[in-house]
Amino acid sequence: MFKERVPAQKNGLMVDNLLNFDNTYLSLHQIFYSMVQPSVVPNPEIVLFNEELGQNLFGSSTNPQEWSELLSGNRVPESTAPFAQAYAGHQFGHFTMLGDGRAIVIGEHITPFGERYDIQLKGCGRTPYSRRGDGKATLGAMLREYLMSESMFYLGIPTSRSLAVTKTGEKVYRDKTFDGAVLTRLMTSHIRVGTFEYARYYGSPNDLESLLDYTIKRHLPSLLQSKNPAAGMLEYVMNRQIELIINWMRVGFIHGVMNTDNTSISGETFDYGPCSFMNAFDLNTVFSSLDTGGRYAFGNQPAIIKWNIAKLAEALLPLLHPQQDRAIEIANEIIDKFDNQFSHKWYTMMFSKIGLVNPTTEDRVLVDELLTTMKSSKLDYTNTFSALKKTITPKESQPNQSNQSNQSRQLDPLNSWMTNWTRRLEESEGGFLAAVGLMEKMNPLFIPRNYFIEKALAGADENDYTLFNQLLSLVKQPYSLVEQPYSLAEQPYSLADDIEKYSSVPNNYDKNYKTYCGT
Ligand code: AMP
Ligand code: MG
Repeated sequence: MFKERVPAQKNGLMVDNLLNFDNTYLSLHQIFYSMVQPSVVPNPEIVLFNEELGQNLFGSSTNPQEWSELLSGNRVPESTAPFAQAYAGHQFGHFTMLGDGRAIVIGEHITPFGERYDIQLKGCGRTPYSRRGDGKATLGAMLREYLMSESMFYLGIPTSRSLAVTKTGEKVYRDKTFDGAVLTRLMTSHIRVGTFEYARYYGSPNDLESLLDYTIKRHLPSLLQSKNPAAGMLEYVMNRQIELIINWMRVGFIHGVMNTDNTSISGETFDYGPCSFMNAFDLNTVFSSLDTGGRYAFGNQPAIIKWNIAKLAEALLPLLHPQQDRAIEIANEIIDKFDNQFSHKWYTMMFSKIGLVNPTTEDRVLVDELLTTMKSSKLDYTNTFSALKKTITPKESQPNQSNQSNQSRQLDPLNSWMTNWTRRLEESEGGFLAAVGLMEKMNPLFIPRNYFIEKALAGADENDYTLFNQLLSLVKQPYSLVEQPYSLAEQPYSLADDIEKYSSVPNNYDKNYKTYCGT
């Protein structure tokens, strides 16, 4: 049933020459990884390949089909030694041993621009950390991760990237049978809060210190001379994660499973399992089928990231100071800055979303009142800000849209708020024009919504990628309405019409909608 592994470089493929591996992670003590080969699959077929990312990674365009053996895991280049990473983590608040159970780092690739990325294959078979799982992934879950991570990238939010989705020709068994697939995922590193927890609770003091040293060399060389590198890294991770969560909240992103093993040290979004974009604004929004208590609800994300940072601090205690009391004080000094920083940065972000170029503390009430009405009137998070922007955009710079009145009607509940808002904008420097410029940068016109993602994935399941590709092209320009002259069918094509088509979902759709980990 299974094919033999294709011997490395048998065909002298071009793609091997494009890969430039340097697996520094293997310089860590052996407890941090297991050497493992991906499973061989019967019939690899690339169904999506990210040409633009490929260019950046390899400095050359390539024929995606040449990659199928490699990106399915069937062929491992001689220049690398793949490994699965060990880590632990708090899942829904409970500490446990984890590790890459369905992912393998094929190698650390250095791009022609000198950037280092882990190239990871997700869904490529069992590893020593698989526990009872099969190490496989379904096509639908991997396509969804590809679309979501690309969307986040083009929204300007730090994220893992997706290079390819490769169908394996195997069936994967969950509640029913699915096509199997492997996702090729890239990250500047897969070091997580959970990697530090693993070092602290499963390793020796030396292991913890060497992980810190390694992480600083890889991500934070500026701290090499620091008197307290552990404190420096803790503060860095906290700041990066604050920026990240504020970006998520700017676009209505709900990660869904912010366990400490899914919190990166680099500040990149990753592990797109049960994630989702919010439709109607409500801080309590949760879609994950596992998150019955709402631990990872949209509005809980700041509190949870603070909790995760506290777990990182606990893991780092022995390195913060040799005396535990003093170490705890140092950790607290850093974490005590969280609340003020978060709230200041969150309001700054929200001020920009409503176009305030010179905000003052008094403007906070404007933001608070807006969100209160948006919640009570169940207004769509993304569409409300787009519609608000349109009300202050000069008519001649607006694209023709069929549905103008519909859009302004959705703002009815905000009528009195808008009076205060426009008065405030008129007073500020640059007036409406400056406000529109700022709002255009901060508010996406397009986010991928579950209702359409589900339709697109159902199509892909029947080998029809029309809708999936349409969504993929829309996520690539989420802020702009630059018209593309013609569609494939050579019809005059309006991006604005397409955005509108995919920007509203049936009433009550969200009520019963659930996302899954894709495991
Ligand atoms: P995640 O929810 O993706 O963060 O995964 C949590 C843990 O479960 C990690 O250790 C994964 O490697 C592991 N895991 C998830 N799915 C599978 C699978 N199909 N087979 C083996 N391990 C898995
Ligand atoms: Mg994970």
